[in-house]
Amino acid sequence: MGVIRVLDDHIANQIAAGEVVERPSSVVKELVENAIDAGSTRIDVTVEDGGLALIRIADNGSGIGADDLERAFQRHATSKISSGKDLFHIRTLGFRGEALPSIAAVSKVECVSASDDSGLGRRIELAGGQLLAHEDAAASRGTDIRIKELFYNTPARLKYMKTIQTELGHISDFIYRLALSHPQIAFLLKHNGNTLVQTLGNGDLLSVIAAIYGTGVAKKMLPIKGESLDYRISGYICRPEETRAGRHAISTVINGRYIRNYAVAQALVKAYHTLLPINRFPIAVLHIEMEPSLLDVNVHPSKMEVRFSKEPELLEFVEETAARILRGTAHIPQGAQPQ
Ligand code: ADP
Ligand code: MG
Repeated sequence: MGVIRVLDDHIANQIAAGEVVERPSSVVKELVENAIDAGSTRIDVTVEDGGLALIRIADNGSGIGADDLERAFQRHATSKISSGKDLFHIRTLGFRGEALPSIAAVSKVECVSASDDSGLGRRIELAGGQLLAHEDAAASRGTDIRIKELFYNTPARLKYMKTIQTELGHISDFIYRLALSHPQIAFLLKHNGNTLVQTLGNGDLLSVIAAIYGTGVAKKMLPIKGESLDYRISGYICRPEETRAGRHAISTVINGRYIRNYAVAQALVKAYHTLLPINRFPIAVLHIEMEPSLLDVNVHPSKMEVRFSKEPELLEFVEETAARILRGTAHIPQGAQPQ
């Protein structure tokens, strides 16, 4: 007998959780992305104690059918791709089928979901990945999922959590990025009963920017638009006088997915050339659309890193488009632009 064994699902989920569920904000990100993939137009996020006591996400999306609810918490269970080929044409935010089982492995989960308007849905309850209840429940169309006591069974991970304020900062940052990525969805974030951000979901990106950065900043943003053979860009970049001390206020959204990419942010910074004071960076929200085949999102479990197959062309396109916008407005003193 050899000594190599295939691990059972329970252990495999706990191992995956180590990567997928780094901290409360990772749970928020995965669950809100699921709500977005489900076509929701309204997503309410309620958090207690920085997400360590409770994370609740309620959406009005497609819901999970009675036959699917238990399977949704199984490893590699997804409705979003069905073959390896699909990996090169991903249009959804999720596809790995890892989030729900990973989150369930390290928390207590209660999920109520209904996929139609009959008023009847299903409720499932798990703790540490073990099924506790699975029954009919009254529910309107959509999904209402609660994650309680995150990391209750992984004390070493729990010990590494920072203060409530720090964890909340990570959560609100994600909600901001997701709201900036999806102006057509109404987001609400509440922490310990206080509303932190609320967006209207009317499709107007500038009103989301106002909700997050304030109306003063929103007024100083310049619309950006451009198109090349492979790429389309839209969004807002700030006037050179409205800057920040880091690159963190540059949000890059590729095909509706918020990503982190230093090179794209740097291409934008280069467009400002000498207009920015030293060590100051712009505020920007860049929505870039491209063929999914030009993009590899299957780089890391968090799916925030991507690889571009034509990166130099993309960077040049971003820099040139932004430079053109800035050239067109740089000489107009603020407040004096034609109405
Ligand atoms: P993935 O998003 O990669 O498919 P998840 O573990 O996040 O994997 O979710 C598993 C499946 O559960 C999804 O493919 C989807 O069918 C279903 N699901 C999860 N959350 C929701 C939701 N809020 N609304 C509708 N369906 C959902
Ligand atoms: Mg998912």
